[in-house]
Order: sequence, then structure tokens, then C-alpha cells
Amino acid sequence: MRRLIVFTFTFFLIFRFAGAEPPQGRISLEDAMRICMKNLEERYHIAFDAGWAPFVQYEIPKAIPREEALDFEACYYPAEQSFFFHPRYVGISFESGAFLKDTFPAGDTSLLARVASAICHELGHAYADQVSRRMDLGMWPKEEWFPDTLGKEELLVDMLSEGIAEYFGRTFLRDRSEAEIMPEEWEAELSPARYEYLSYEGGYWLMRPLIDAFGDRGIRYAVSHPIALQDGGLKASAFRYWEAAFKDLRSSE
Ligand SMILES: [Zn+2]
Repeated sequence: MRRLIVFTFTFFLIFRFAGAEPPQGRISLEDAMRICMKNLEERYHIAFDAGWAPFVQYEIPKAIPREEALDFEACYYPAEQSFFFHPRYVGISFESGAFLKDTFPAGDTSLLARVASAICHELGHAYADQVSRRMDLGMWPKEEWFPDTLGKEELLVDMLSEGIAEYFGRTFLRDRSEAEIMPEEWEAELSPARYEYLSYEGGYWLMRPLIDAFGDRGIRYAVSHPIALQDGGLKASAFRYWEAAFKDLRSSE
């Protein structure tokens, strides 16, 4: 009898996880993440680590400053390879179809649009981290690259990191155009809002041509090649980066 129970349980596990189709209808956030993973893998010809399943904690991390807690949606912690989502998502269910195709117009602030974009964005961080570990470069980005004060060097790392994440995060947007927003000169002072704007918008502007042209190889390049700081501001740094990246990736095709 005992044997039989063990056997039945094993069979159930195999049935449940090996190749089971993503659930349909009303689904949890974790199930939505599994659907998004599959969607991103097929769309961008990538593969998350075999057997990996997202681990989610529903809380605002203590490191998030109080004034930012209201806007907090989600984040990925590479040190623990896990996700934090805002507690508002506990017990909420979503329509599964929303995570399967291009659905949202730019600027859509509905809960569904926000969660779909947040999930794909955070999965982008997780994927870049996995790529780095597969290349034996350890977690990415590294905690020690971010001291308390955020300046130019940190911004250049964040542009790569948030750029990859934003590329994934905008998967469900119909309009993915981006403005050319790179400043020609280094700014004397980077306010937190300006830093965030440049990391996300500037990062997307930087990474989009590389991932569009080279897909997964563009991501591998970004996690293994930091951006060198150039005198001519962010724009010169970005152009120099593209020049080297396109040359390297084209020659190794
Ligand atoms: Zn991010």
C-alpha cells in the first residue's frame, strides 16, 4: 500500500510538471509568469534554465525607499534568484489570454497591462542573470557595482540591465517606438528621477538595436561587456558601445 502511494504521487508529479500545457481561464500571478516565460522563449528564441520556476514573495523589499513604495510593482533579486511583487497581487487572478499576444496600447495603465509588463520586465532581469551564470560570470549585475550613491558608472550598468528588462517588458505593447533621449553632455547632477528615466528609456534605446539584430547573442554580449565611459556624454558612450558590439557580433556570425 505504501509503495502504491509513492508510485501514485510520483506519477502525479511527472504529469503535473513535465510538459503540462499552461493553465487556461482565470490564473494566479505565478501561472501568468509561467505563460510569459513560454511566450518569451518562443518569441525571442531563448531558453530559461531547465527546471527553473520563478519564486515570488509578495512584499515590498526593505531596501526600497519609503517614497518609492507607492509606485513599487516588482523586482528581481539576482543574489537569491527570486522575485518580489507588491502585496496587492496576493490572491488576484488574471485572464490567461492576456499573456499570450500583443494586447496593450502604449500608456495603458490598467492593472492587467501593468502586471504583464512587470512580469516580462522582471523575467528579463532573471534571464540576463541566468545567461551570465551560464557563461561562468556569476550573478548579474553584481551587488558591489551599486554603492549607495548612484552616478555615471552605475548608470551605465543599469542601462544594460534595465535595457534588457525593458526590451522584455515591452513585449505586450503594440507601439514599441522609443524617443532618442540620450544627452550629448554629461549632466552635472543626476537626480533620482533623471537616473531612473535614463536607465529605463535610455537602456531600452541602447539595447533594442542589439537584441533586434542579434537576439540572444546581443544579451550575452551585454552581460559580458560593460559600457566604457566616454568624454562625450551618454550618447558618445552608447555609440562607441554599439560600434564595438556590432563589429564583434557580425564578425562572429
Ligand atoms: Zn528593472
